Amino acid sequence: MKIKKRWALSLALTLALSLTACGTAPQETQNKLDFFAMDTLMEFSAYADESLLAEAREIVMDIERRVSVTDEKSELSALNRDGGGTVSPETAALLETALSLCRLTGGAFDVSIYPVVRAWGFTTGHYRVPSFDETAALCERVDYAAIRLNADSVTLPDGMEIDLGGIAKGYAGREAANYLRANGVTSALLNLGGNVQTIGSKPDGSAWRVAVRDPLNESAYAGVAEIRDKAAVTSGGYERHFTADDGQTYWHIMDPATGRPARNGVLSATIVADDGALCDALSTALFVMGAERAERFWRSRNDFDMVLITEDGETIVTPGLAYESASYPVRTLSR
Ligand code: ADP
Ligand code: MG
Repeated sequence: MKIKKRWALSLALTLALSLTACGTAPQETQNKLDFFAMDTLMEFSAYADESLLAEAREIVMDIERRVSVTDEKSELSALNRDGGGTVSPETAALLETALSLCRLTGGAFDVSIYPVVRAWGFTTGHYRVPSFDETAALCERVDYAAIRLNADSVTLPDGMEIDLGGIAKGYAGREAANYLRANGVTSALLNLGGNVQTIGSKPDGSAWRVAVRDPLNESAYAGVAEIRDKAAVTSGGYERHFTADDGQTYWHIMDPATGRPARNGVLSATIVADDGALCDALSTALFVMGAERAERFWRSRNDFDMVLITEDGETIVTPGLAYESASYPVRTLSR
């Protein structure tokens, strides 16, 4: 079995980070901090003190310690083991955000997916292809609506387990950015393994340029989005997948309706919005939904833009986003 795990570190960062300021005299010098967290490489770059960047890193590490599903000492692991319990205010706030996004997406994003994710081996590294009977049975345990959260008290039904892997990086990026903003930072680019969170624009006033990886060609990018003071998060099947003995490729984004990797015609979903947590959950959810449902969902909202790259080689872009395609033909939606 060929196993391929890729850090979500894409051209996004190379491109975005290489475009640093010139011409103006920023108040602070640009500082960078690279570290490994949440199973990926993170790169923070900001016009801020080094110590402030280190504190922003601590915010990310703290969230990871609380909600890592693979760290048996985390609060989330305790919840999964005990079927509930009392959590810190920080973890309760993350769970509350995650559950509201499960509701928003009608369960295309569902944090109770963990038994399914584990059965496929994505958190254990023991990759396997469960039978349809097995995944159907596991689906019975997936239902975010059955999770009870009352202030700091959580109750899970029998056999249910939570996985925040589809939102933790986006949420952490948002929290880190809010902290930096509160401390006066007006220009930053935080790359949390391909989950990009920006503050303001580049010091010369121009937009940050974030590359979207080509889902069919790992060494290329499909296009570039220009963003200011927003987050951009991509979910793609290429991020983490394995090829089984049957020659098929299976990836880590699961369709909660089937308990199997979501294969609904979308190869990558990029979401751009103010809120990084929303971006992260929606990128997973819209990948699961497929292009038609994703488009209907977008029409029902006005708080995000998207780039969907489909199996048909089409790029679907919403009109609020400045996106320049490097390869695939673009279809821009209209309201
Ligand atoms: P990445 O973590 O590669 O950036 P995503 O944000 O799409 O990609 O998150 C995928 C992760 O989310 C999976 O590894 C798994 O832990 C979890 N997950 C998979 N499918 C779903 C789903 N339908 N809803 C919520 N979480 C999911
Ligand atoms: Mg996500």
